[in-house]
Amino acid sequence: MIRGKLALTDLELDRLRGRPVLVRVDYNVPVEDGRVVDDLRIRATLPTLERLLAAGARPVLLSHFGRPKGRPDPAFSLRPVAEHLTTLVPWRVRFVPEVVGPSVAALVAQLVDGEIALLENTRFHPGEEANDSELGRQWADLGAAFVNDAFGAVHRAHASVVAVAEAAKAQGKPAVAGLLLVKELAYLGDALEAPRRPFVAVLGGAKISGKIDVIEALRPRVDRLLVGGAMANTFFRAMGLATGRSLVEDDRVPLARRLLDEMGDQLVLPRDVVVAPDPDAADRVQVVPREAIPADAMALDVGPETVAEFAAVTADAGTVFWNGPLGMVERPAFRAGTAGLARALADAAERGVVVVVGGGDSAAALAELGLVERMTHVSTGGGAALEFLEGKELPGVAALSDAA
Ligand code: ADP
Ligand code: MG
Repeated sequence: MIRGKLALTDLELDRLRGRPVLVRVDYNVPVEDGRVVDDLRIRATLPTLERLLAAGARPVLLSHFGRPKGRPDPAFSLRPVAEHLTTLVPWRVRFVPEVVGPSVAALVAQLVDGEIALLENTRFHPGEEANDSELGRQWADLGAAFVNDAFGAVHRAHASVVAVAEAAKAQGKPAVAGLLLVKELAYLGDALEAPRRPFVAVLGGAKISGKIDVIEALRPRVDRLLVGGAMANTFFRAMGLATGRSLVEDDRVPLARRLLDEMGDQLVLPRDVVVAPDPDAADRVQVVPREAIPADAMALDVGPETVAEFAAVTADAGTVFWNGPLGMVERPAFRAGTAGLARALADAAERGVVVVVGGGDSAAALAELGLVERMTHVSTGGGAALEFLEGKELPGVAALSDAA
């Protein structure tokens, strides 16, 4: 049980023996030249699939992939993902090149023990994003239960997330949280509601405006809030410092001013920054104190003194929640701040600090650095993790069967 909802572990799995079970996964992974380049989200679903197969059930996987416009588009086919999945698991993976309909039902009926099916991109159907109840019903018809293991999609009221769960329940079938979804909700929920203290949050990324609800949600709960990334520039402006040509959200300066006043020492900003005339001028990079950002330069990363301070504050924490890169990580010249903090947090996690990381770009940066496994938990959901922290109801969780 998780948050009043049934979980896979609540079911008598023996009842699913020999029967197809629908599993919503989030296989919206980066693919380049037809190859999956980061499979964190795929590997994260394997425990649920293993559990179902061990019980003799036949998983039928549903996932979206990219943003096709409600119709088939070969550029967004899940076929490369199916091929990658085959290399990860000992089971036969049957890719079904359709989303729904008689040929899908026929193939599902033919599944044998030890096989799984992956249906084509749910967003090839116009009913997916419309949360079409008829589409949900057709999917629910295929299986004896619905398992949602797609944390990255639970903030979306789409048919493969909500309508299918509603339809399964209407058919007297359980709609439950998979092992990954349970783990995500447990880590993010505990981090927010019952953190081991001191509780330190680190926020980076491009904009305050995109994170204001997260800041408001974390503020009453955290002991310290460390801010990096371009977001820090708006605070610098509010402090009266010169920000040169850095990205600043002018309309959020009053908000930054208010947060500075109200939060005092709770809020920790970078002391030094890495500047350059522009993001492409990797040969003219300089570290300067925050008081000395040149008029013709942009702050594109936090400096080494800041990394050391953030590392020291998080080293003494009980729990750390991190969202958002501390610099423009896409460019190697501005990756050191994010990499430095990531290494410090990996060490902290190994000493027992609970380190939870959420956010798409943050998770990608950790994957690139090879540090995912060393954190306590790296969320597979970007938007979903933030909406959860903001305290918003997640429609995909709300739609699951209530625990008795
Ligand atoms: P997440 O996806 O982890 O929630 P965000 O989407 O909020 O993270 O932020 C990631 C983006 O922030 C990256 O594209 C990165 O380049 C950008 N960014 C971080 N620091 C800066 C900076 N100082 N100047 C410009 N862009 C920045
Ligand atoms: Mg992002």
